Amino acid sequence: PPSPATVPAEARAVLTIDLDALRSNWRTVRSRLTHAECAAVIKADAYGLGLEQIAGALVAEGCRTVFVATLDEARRVRIVSPALTIYVLDGLLPGAAASYIGFNLRPCLSSLDEIAEWSAAGAERGERLKAALHIDTGMNRLGLTAHDVETLARAWDTFDGFQCTLVMSHLACADVPGHPMNDAQRTRFDELRAKLPPLPASLANSGGTFLDPAFQYDLVRPGIVLFGGRALEGRPNPMRHVVTLKARILQIRDCAPGATVGYGAAYTCDRPTRLATIACGYADGFLRAISRA
Ligand SMILES: *Cc1c(COP(=O)(O)O)cnc(C)c1O
Repeated sequence: PPSPATVPAEARAVLTIDLDALRSNWRTVRSRLTHAECAAVIKADAYGLGLEQIAGALVAEGCRTVFVATLDEARRVRIVSPALTIYVLDGLLPGAAASYIGFNLRPCLSSLDEIAEWSAAGAERGERLKAALHIDTGMNRLGLTAHDVETLARAWDTFDGFQCTLVMSHLACADVPGHPMNDAQRTRFDELRAKLPPLPASLANSGGTFLDPAFQYDLVRPGIVLFGGRALEGRPNPMRHVVTLKARILQIRDCAPGATVGYGAAYTCDRPTRLATIACGYADGFLRAISRA
């Protein structure tokens, strides 16, 4: 964070994003892995921290694979990094295959229709287009059903314009160690994977990389921990803070017991109280719900 001397005179609040801490967090996750590749999830504009600068810092640290949510985000990352492997979690939007191909992107395919469309686009070009297969194992958000996987397995050879580079699924309760969903989803993942040819696999999000190493498979997909978030509930957080928000104090006042504070006189001082008014509020993203009243 900047020292007061370096804060411009006109600055109200200063948000600092520490890219060294980000890089250190990525190394911390990587150091936990027995053999898996450490990718990074940078969806939602890198959890709000700016896709381009976060992608650039991770690439500089040696990260080779990222996951974004949208085609739009994928294009932005491609512009800053020609070599990065980029997976799009939204999957293939119908009719948009040419955009994925043009930017060398890999959709995470979640339905037989998406697989058919991607494979047809590859066949038309005489290529096998790379993509991930997303299998649902209990999150019930995105992913192929068990029935889809069986259908796909029977028709595998007909999809000759498609190369599956990763089979993945997403954990619903990875932040709660010992939650029965974790092992249940891992078992389900193994059962469904077994119906397909051997493929590189990925199951762990942030929480998953802090569970048993059996959750690591060939690639892990940490997101929130890279940005300083806690992986496991109720455990110490080994991650470094990436984001710091500091606001200028505009005024300090001393109030006597009984004085009321703020709209609706929502707070009453019960003892002599020194109050600071800071230059940061709702318009700066400081949630109104955080208000004590
Ligand atoms: C968001 C997301 C991740 C990363 O999750 P975190 O809990 O932030 O680590 C991994 N995989 C998928 C499919 C996701 O949607």
